[in-house]
Amino acid sequence: MMSNKTPEKVKADVVVSMHYTLKVDGSVVDTSSGADPLEYLQGHGNIIEGLEKEMEGMAVGESKTVSVAAKDGYGEYDAEAVAYIPRAQFPPEIPLEEGIQLQVRDEQGDVTSAWISEVGEDRVQLNFNHPLAGKNLEFEVTVVGLRQPTSEELTHGHVHSDKHSH
Ligand code: ZN
Repeated sequence: MMSNKTPEKVKADVVVSMHYTLKVDGSVVDTSSGADPLEYLQGHGNIIEGLEKEMEGMAVGESKTVSVAAKDGYGEYDAEAVAYIPRAQFPPEIPLEEGIQLQVRDEQGDVTSAWISEVGEDRVQLNFNHPLAGKNLEFEVTVVGLRQPTSEELTHGHVHSDKHSH
């Protein structure tokens, strides 16, 4: 039987609302500051593993700085996960600039994400690593709310909001 009581601490199957700021090498790369807090379902791999582990047991109003090693974040950088593509093969509407993110279709027809990591005179290096692979992550998090999930959210293993339902 599921309890309807408001949870007191972050634990598995609790919906957590939090504000976060992510810093890499001392620079802010992502933050919820000035926007709605992030809501996620604890214990279902909705957020990166290293952070989810550290959220366990936090209460509303509590803040914490969490350092996540690359391997527990977006993974180690794989120097082989790159491909060189002749410039001429890129459609003209794609700007050939470092950092541009693309959706690429592989030989099996599956779509994966890549980004341009180098633009040479006649070839472009496509990078299939997550842009934050190999980076140690520093999160500043504040828990702003806790609630029980709906039974549908629990079945799906993620939070449903106005913007997202399926
Ligand atoms: Zn769903």
